Amino acid sequence: MGKASDWLREERRKTLGDWAAFCVDCGHVQRYFEGDEEELGETCPQCSGELRHRCPSCAARFSSAFVVDCEACGAGVRPAEQFGTRIRKAGR
Ligand SMILES: [Zn+2]
Ligand SMILES: [Zn+2]
Repeated sequence: MGKASDWLREERRKTLGDWAAFCVDCGHVQRYFEGDEEELGETCPQCSGELRHRCPSCAARFSSAFVVDCEACGAGVRPAEQFGTRIRKAGR
């Protein structure tokens, strides 16, 4: 099994893009491919807010558009209250 689903996942990843960018103001999400980062605007196409595609602390890219903390350095990369309710972290 494994193999077929790996292939499917790979196909999906290619369709959607390798990396994710998001608007810090309205939450608009844009996926992009390695090498296409320069084509991303600096601003959100919907609200002209900041379209963030790199961690502001360590410049790591985001593999998921739903990250709250940077996977690499743990810095907060988006306002936690963006989803309506502030996300609380248990045990930190
Ligand atoms: Zn926006
Ligand atoms: Zn980081």
